[in-house]
Amino acid sequence: MPKCHALGCFYAVAISGAENAVQNREAGVRNLVNTYIAPIQAAADAFLWLVYPDGCMICKEASGPFLCDRCADDLLVPFPALVCSTCGHPRQVLPCRRCQMSPPAYVATRAASPLAGELAQVIHHFKYHDRPQLALPLGRLLARHALGIRHSLGDLSFDRVTCVPMLRSRERARGYNQADRLARVTAAELRLSYAPDLLKRAKRTRPQVGLHREQRQSNIEGAFVATGKPSVTGLRILVIDDVSTTGATLDACAVALREAGAAAVYGLALAAGG
Ligand SMILES: [Zn+2]
Ligand SMILES: [Zn+2]
Repeated sequence: MPKCHALGCFYAVAISGAENAVQNREAGVRNLVNTYIAPIQAAADAFLWLVYPDGCMICKEASGPFLCDRCADDLLVPFPALVCSTCGHPRQVLPCRRCQMSPPAYVATRAASPLAGELAQVIHHFKYHDRPQLALPLGRLLARHALGIRHSLGDLSFDRVTCVPMLRSRERARGYNQADRLARVTAAELRLSYAPDLLKRAKRTRPQVGLHREQRQSNIEGAFVATGKPSVTGLRILVIDDVSTTGATLDACAVALREAGAAAVYGLALAAGG
């Protein structure tokens, strides 16, 4: 559809909607809704199509910026019923052997889905294809999931939500920190207070992708410090990331926050794996 045609539809649908409304004023609430809301919705869709000509990246419908609600809802793949109560990984014993042998500094962490299929593609676009707008549907999706598993996440009783900070040079190159964008939306949806600068990078680390478990652990150890702005003393904090792998990054964040006086740290990621 050419853009001028979309704009024509925008006005034509809106004008005909207004005329019909005058003629059917006594036709009841349903008619009013159909008369007013439908043209507005159509106009909004036409406008979105102008702004986002590709529409939803999965179904291609021009119903929203890059990812429609229906496709977003289908992205998550459930984990097996039995997961470690601490790290959230599928396990046969609770908590898992690794968490028993070496308890992490966080209380518990959960991912919404394994990193696979269309979710992996969407996250790849979110991170590497300049699609910060995906934060809105993905953040809403993560918030809905968090509400469903709130008993595993301290009943979502948190004083602050924060994100895993990115190296400044990497953030400048990308233009945004996808974990920050995601966490902002999720916190807002959950009506929780968001504080983006509780943590900062203390040292330069290699990207975790492609490293073995032990390498990830030593690479990320001591990577973060609490900024003290604001103080975290006595607070319960939720750290949000887009993808978690071994949990080593969250653990390093939790160590820094606990050292700064945080009462409890929990983690939440959109996907686990990678
Ligand atoms: Zn879609
Ligand atoms: Zn575990």
